Amino acid sequence: MEYGPAPEDADRARQWISEQGATFGHWINGAWAGASHHFESVNPATQETLARMGQASSSDVDAAVAAARQALAPWQALGGEERARHLYALARQVQKHARILSVIETLDNGKPIRETRDIDIPLVARHFYHHAGWATLVEEELPNSEPLGVIGQIIPWNFPLLMLAWKVAPALAAGNTVVLKPAEYTSLSALYFAQMSHDAGLPPGVLNIVTGDGNAGRELVEHSGINKVAFTGSTSVGREIREATAGSGKALTLELGGKSPFIVFADADLDSAVEGVVDAIWFNQGQVCCAGSRLLVQESVADDFLSRLKTRMQSLRLGDPLDKAIDMGAIVDQGQLETIRSYVEGAAKEGASCWQAGSGVPDQGWYFPPTLVTDVAPAHTIATEEVFGPVLAVMTFRTHNEAIEIANNTRYGLAASVWSENVNLTLEMASKVKAGVIWVNCTNEFDAAVGFGGYRESGFGREGGIEGLWAYRRSPLDLAPDENPPADPALPQLPAEGSALDRTAKLYIGGRQVRPDSGYSRPVAAMDRSLAGEVGEGNRKDIRNAVEAAHGAAGWGRGSAHGRAQVMYFLAENLEARADGFAKRIKELTGTDGEQEVTAAISRLLYYAGWCDKFEGVTHNAPGGRIVFAMPEPIGVIGLICPQSYPLLGLVSLMAPAIAVGNAVVAIPSENAPLVATDFYQVLETSDVPAGVVNIITGSRPELAKELARHDNVDGLWCAGHHEMVTEVERFSGGNLKQTWVFSGERDWCDPNLSQGRPFLRRATQIKNIWVPYGE
Ligand code: NDP
Repeated sequence: MEYGPAPEDADRARQWISEQGATFGHWINGAWAGASHHFESVNPATQETLARMGQASSSDVDAAVAAARQALAPWQALGGEERARHLYALARQVQKHARILSVIETLDNGKPIRETRDIDIPLVARHFYHHAGWATLVEEELPNSEPLGVIGQIIPWNFPLLMLAWKVAPALAAGNTVVLKPAEYTSLSALYFAQMSHDAGLPPGVLNIVTGDGNAGRELVEHSGINKVAFTGSTSVGREIREATAGSGKALTLELGGKSPFIVFADADLDSAVEGVVDAIWFNQGQVCCAGSRLLVQESVADDFLSRLKTRMQSLRLGDPLDKAIDMGAIVDQGQLETIRSYVEGAAKEGASCWQAGSGVPDQGWYFPPTLVTDVAPAHTIATEEVFGPVLAVMTFRTHNEAIEIANNTRYGLAASVWSENVNLTLEMASKVKAGVIWVNCTNEFDAAVGFGGYRESGFGREGGIEGLWAYRRSPLDLAPDENPPADPALPQLPAEGSALDRTAKLYIGGRQVRPDSGYSRPVAAMDRSLAGEVGEGNRKDIRNAVEAAHGAAGWGRGSAHGRAQVMYFLAENLEARADGFAKRIKELTGTDGEQEVTAAISRLLYYAGWCDKFEGVTHNAPGGRIVFAMPEPIGVIGLICPQSYPLLGLVSLMAPAIAVGNAVVAIPSENAPLVATDFYQVLETSDVPAGVVNIITGSRPELAKELARHDNVDGLWCAGHHEMVTEVERFSGGNLKQTWVFSGERDWCDPNLSQGRPFLRRATQIKNIWVPYGE
């Protein structure tokens, strides 16, 4: 039986384009703004030019940022309920204009109308509805926080309007205003949306759109008038943005690439899993950040599964994306098509076998057939790099442990899909695969209430749900770092001849006191300028050993929260037993009231001991019969650059929340009074803290901070320091895109409102969303 053509009518969309003279400028302050330079936007299915788009100059970006800044105060003054009305109006507009938006998206991007009509646009509306609710609730649900200000947002071309919704809806709901740059290939739907938002009464300047290439994006990122950058796109550009924003004080969230595993066990419902693969890698031509591009199939069913998959591939229809009966449309651009081709050719050269279904590829337009690559080794390029096309790399495994190992053998960690009828197995896999989203017996599920985002080089921050909203607010704990470095520690006087002070405190690594690799130590001055003692001069190798020890303590995070609580209570108890000694030491080294600091440190330990078994996730009831477990997981190994002041309380305030939720830490204590931290070794040793959970390296804070920032096995880094140091920390963290939190150490660390609370626990965790379907 043959399918007849079922084309969608594109006249209304084309009419809108021609009403604008097929030439667009930017959308600034609620009106069109002309552009001095243009580029062409092309329909990838036909290669026809759809329109000329404006290339934003720096003055266009200036104007957009100025408009957003001016609109900020009135937008905030409206209050949550009024903002909710605006978001609700936008949701309604999207529904009203759903068909034309779907067609514009298909014309501009080449994706099948079936997907834009049934998935992209309904999800856009859902996002605005969901966030209309948050606009009303944000003050109540996110207490002690405020909007960040003007947000610069940069989105890719694979889901143009959906990515706009993911960015714009939470930003506006949280009380910010926006300048958004869509991708060069696909700007039309964003401009239609902007015009529509104006018709819906959105105040001018609240949403501004500037179009253009990567240079326009760079102008926006570097603009001094924005308070946050929210980016979705490639890991390489994400890294560039991390470096460009280092030390600027701008908040940053990055949603980057992936190489997500799709894991099929022998006991899976194989036919359902085949449909899952179709959705995982051929939805949107595989141009999906969370595409299941690595198929891991259990060896015993591999032949059977691949044969079923090949049969299914033969029935996939490739062609005119406006045809409602088409499964796969066009690739967004010729450049992207060439990239995909070169990956497939490269795979063959590396020894893999490529198989493509015989389905016809249209003569005109940029198309690539669904492709299966077998005989793939885990180290092959096709198994490690994001292709961003309809290409599936197949590998096999024997045991579930091997599946976990292969699944985690990637620098990414965006998503994973696990297929088995054994619920115990799927949930164990869900807990052990390192990814922000796990789909059990399903794939590519999204909902506005459920956060989305990655681990590791897939970026940081979540979009959607309450986590996504937090990314658009700031709390008083995020005090900006000080501009000027504090004065150097006072130099000690030489000790008197024959002084008893010949003890050099060592470093604390893997639960043992060890000599520094350098063999050097540094003197520590007391307030009376006498020599109080010496501490080891830590270096790169000590950091390396400490990070290794911290990774060796991963069992701490996997163990029970009750067990962690007991250890932390014990820490508090043992610190209390030595309170006098610590108070004296603090007074000797800093001249401040040691007793007050020690008392506060004990209560901080008790506070986080209490939190250990209470900082838990939530369950979302997502549409379509899916339960989603949103579980906070420890980040892994966190580097802590402790404040100069409050040598005990500063260390405890950073260490306690991090370890309470299961991280291991490498702490760099105050340089002024490191002996307080070295005295703390004994408290750690007597409190059953497992080896490697807390490691302490004394020495130069800026030097050691840089080493931690550069280290690719450090997963997170908190830095309480001055401007110069945090700039370096952020810049060097771009290597493995570790999560950083930089803030001023100069605060009253005894004040719980500024120094403890949920924000610390949130920063110490990342949410993993596990989707589990129910019902037959
Ligand atoms: P990019 O990361 O280059 O583009 C994403 C967005 O960033 C676009 O709006 C782009 O503008 C803009 N941009 C580009 N350079 C800069 C810069 N230096 N500063 C600020 N903004 C910038 O992705 P591409 O579109 O070039 O795609 C390349 C590869 O990236 C794909 O093959 C795929 O592997 C991956 N990718 C991943 C996505 C994901 O969601 N994970 C999404 C898109 C791509 P412009 O469009 O004008 O270049």
